[in-house]
Amino acid sequence: MAYAYDPQNIFAKILRGEIPCDKVLETDHSLAFRDIAPKTPDHVLVIPKGAYVTWDHFAADATDAELADFTRAVGQVAQMVGAAPGADGAGYRLISNAGRDGVQEVPHLHVHVLAGRPLGWMIR
Ligand code: 5GP
Repeated sequence: MAYAYDPQNIFAKILRGEIPCDKVLETDHSLAFRDIAPKTPDHVLVIPKGAYVTWDHFAADATDAELADFTRAVGQVAQMVGAAPGADGAGYRLISNAGRDGVQEVPHLHVHVLAGRPLGWMIR
């Protein structure tokens, strides 16, 4: 299956350094930065450096090294913002919106790490 990737999307521009971001973590294959319009006190976006649109695209085409790096980066971010229950944090939520029904705004895979306040079951 072919996935069309738009290299002009805003996260591609952040990865290329064309627009700034409030960086939280950078690893070999991943970048994490604060959301420009945070929905919670700690709202961090974790993205792979590779050109992937959605989670299914990433799962199909990424290398094992990319998959491992990204998975670990998400966990590290939860710890870095002090939200990881295993490290005595109060908890967090992960969201990855995909496609039209998933109301994905930016067509570069990202996981939202939402933390810093109690969350209801749904985010509006
Ligand atoms: P989506 O709806 O695609 O899952 O979420 C995209 C997220 O990217 C939104 O929460 C939005 O606030 C965030 N966002 C959009 N443009 C920028 C930007 O230029 N910088 C940062 N840091 N976040 C952005």
